[in-house]
This record gives sequence, structure tokens and C-alpha cells, in this order.
Amino acid sequence: MYVHEQGAKRIADVRFYEVDMQVPQQVKQILETLTQAGFQAYAVGGCVRDAFLGREPEDWDITTDALPEQVKGLFRRTVDTGIRHGTVTVLLKDKSYEITTYRVDGAYSDGRHPDSVVFTPELSEDLRRRDFTINAMACAADGRVVDLFGGREDLGKRRIRCVGDPDERFTEDALRILRALRFSAQLDFDIEGATWEALKRHAPNLVNVSRERILAELNKMLLSGHPEKMSMLEEAGIIPWIGKELEDLLPSARIAALPAKKDLRWAAAFSEADGETARTFLKNMKSDNETADGAALLISGIRGAVPEDLYGTRRLLSVYGQDRVREMILLRRAGFGGPVSAEQLDLLEERTDRILSAGDCLAVRNLALSGSDLIRMGIRPGPGLGSILGTMLDRVLRDPGLNTRECLERIAEEAAEGRGNVPGRKSGNDDASE
Ligand code: ATP
Ligand code: MG
Repeated sequence: MYVHEQGAKRIADVRFYEVDMQVPQQVKQILETLTQAGFQAYAVGGCVRDAFLGREPEDWDITTDALPEQVKGLFRRTVDTGIRHGTVTVLLKDKSYEITTYRVDGAYSDGRHPDSVVFTPELSEDLRRRDFTINAMACAADGRVVDLFGGREDLGKRRIRCVGDPDERFTEDALRILRALRFSAQLDFDIEGATWEALKRHAPNLVNVSRERILAELNKMLLSGHPEKMSMLEEAGIIPWIGKELEDLLPSARIAALPAKKDLRWAAAFSEADGETARTFLKNMKSDNETADGAALLISGIRGAVPEDLYGTRRLLSVYGQDRVREMILLRRAGFGGPVSAEQLDLLEERTDRILSAGDCLAVRNLALSGSDLIRMGIRPGPGLGSILGTMLDRVLRDPGLNTRECLERIAEEAAEGRGNVPGRKSGNDDASE
């Protein structure tokens, strides 16, 4: 009753795709262990899709009619990852594989999770519960592929289409709305008409999806090869259901030229807004602080003028650190932030390299005179002392040659005098501390 077709050979005529349905050795071994014990077993979902597309699958998931306890009986090392949903992880050498029992999802009364899952002996039932046709194919150990919903055809047409009735599928689980957009960005596929219309209709269901899950999908879009497809968020009318800050998003193809790093790409995406918008949005979506703060910092860094001399460059390096400065250069080269010429950026990069290879002092902690040295000199601890250190650093950023004890003592004394920080002192020359 299943449509088994010859994997590699028959499919070779699908245009544009290099077909490589070779199942990796370890996956084959797992599938064969199950089938030799009398069960059905297939690689399923994303791995089959990716293998057809010639993309390296992230992981190979396996589906079987064996029940979790039966799976556990067949493999030496297993972990009960999601036993209630039928998933057992099998550990082989250095890798792990999720094996899930064929299942049917019960009703979805919360618009996100099935109320219950029921195991089924039918592969077709298991494939029917999956979101999109391209994600609903299964592949046996010998490379034969089960494709009940036209997944291969949709791969050929480069389109995302729901399995079954799209209205029902988006009503069951609103996360699928974002998954559709995300796969479209990752694979550069279109969304098939009926799926797209239904997705728009069900946008309000996104209130049922946790912010973490929404952000995870947005991150995948942003880090994909086609971040410009984030324009679909607006086209589909789903921004009001996620966060209004997204109205300021710049869905540019230029983002794809940047390294796939979240803070860097969010900075680009929000570069037309400002750092606070990016930070607010990302924090609301429960992003990690590193990404939220990093994006905000980068945006503020690319808004200012590009420094034109060594002092300005040292100051930039001192405030942001070399990694961030290099990221700002990347962002600006890709056209984000204020307008600058390639020549200005070349010069900035040259000066940055020169400063770093000279080992110029760029931080208070690398000054030849420390805060405790200042206290020994009789300067009172507190904010005043901090500002003296700041003055010393600024002078050293202007002229790295001043980073010696003698020069800095002189600078510190002058600064302390100016601030009246040295108690009982009349002149700056009677050094009480040494
Ligand atoms: P990725 O490369 O991002 O891992 P994937 O297709 O493997 O893509 P997963 O989230 O790992 O996606 O899910 C594995 C499979 O489970 C999918 O291919 C799909 O068949 C099914 N699936 C996952 N999430 C859903 C969902 N929300 N609704 C229906 N089916 C889903
Ligand atoms: Mg996966």
C-alpha cells in the first residue's frame, strides 16, 4: 500500500537537485537492526528532504512501528528522551539518533500541542501528522522512498505545501506558520497558494506559541541563506502577533553576506531602527542577553562617524573591543549603518591592525600605573579616582608613548590637583606615597 520508489535512480531526473539517497552506515545499521527484529523502520522528515536536496542533514530521525520498550530492547545504550511521545534516543559510538514510534496526534485544544499521542502501526498515519509534504517522506535502509503526499514533486517545484488541509494544520499548531516561513528562507522555496492563504488567516493563533519558539524560528530565518524572506512576516500580517518592533526590520538580502552570527545579523536587521529597539524586541522574545546586548551595541557602534585618525581608532577599540570593531567593519562594508566609503573602511581596518600589532594600551587594566598605585600616591579611592584613570587612559590613547610609570604619575598628579583629590597638598611635586 505504500508507494515505494527507487531512491537515487528514479529521482535523478528531478531537475536542479543532486540526489544522494545514500543512508549513512550507522543509520542503516539501526534500520536493519529494527527490520531484522521484524519491525518496520525508516529515516524520516528533515533528513530525507535534505538528502534529496544534496544538503547535509543535521540529524537523522528514525520512525518505526516498534514500541519504545521494544526499541530499548534492541539497542545497548538508549536514553528515554521523550518516552511519552514515543521517542527513544539510541547512542552509537560518538553519535545519537532519535527513534520515534509511529504515532497519531490527538486533538490540539491549545492550538500548539496535541492533547495526547497515540501509537499506530501505520506509517501512513505517522506521515500524515507531519507539517509539510517535503517533511513527510520516509526512506528505508535500501534507499527506497515513501512519498504519499507529493513531497518530491514539491521539492522539484521548490514549494512549501501543507500535508492535508492547511486550515486544519495551522489551527492545530500555529508554530507551523513560522516553520513555513523558515523553511522558505532556508531552502529558498515559495509557499504554495492555499498554504499561504491559510497561514495568513491563522496568524492570530500565534498567541498560542511561546516566545522562545517564535524566536527560535526567527533566528533560523535570519541565519538562513535568504534572510530577505523575513519580509514575509509583514506580508503575512503576523507582526502584530509577535512584536511591533518588527515593523522596523530591514529584510535585506545583504544580511546573507554576513557571518551567520545572531547578534551580528540582528544588528543588521535592526540597523535602520536603533539599538534599543533591537534590545527591547530580543529581550521580550526571551533572547539570551549576549545576543540582545551585542546587537544593541553593534547598532550604536555603526551609527557614529567612522574615526579618521589613530586616536579615534584607539578609542573605538577601547570602548568596543577588537572583535566588535571588526564586526562593525563587516556590517558597514555590507552597507549597514551610516554612509561610509570603502576607502574609509580600508583605512580604519589598516589602523586597527597597526594598533593591535603595536600592542598599544587600550584599557585601564593595561596602564603602567594602576588604581592601587594611585591610592599609594595618596589619591582617595572613589569615583574621582576612576575619572583620573579615565584621564590617564585618554592621554595614552592619544599617545601610547605616555604609558610609562613616570609619565602617568605626572598625568595623575595633574589630574588629581585639578580635581582637588589630594588632601593636604599644596604643590603637585611632593610625592607623599613613595
Ligand atoms: P531541521 O533541519 O530544522 O531540523 P526538520 O524538518 O528536521 O528541520 P524538526 O523540527 O527537526 O525539523 O522536525 C523533524 C520532523 O518532525 C519534521 O521534518 C516534520 O516531519 C515533523 N515536525 C516537526 N515539527 C512539526 C510540527 N510543528 N508539526 C508537524 N510536524 C512537525
Ligand atoms: Mg531536525
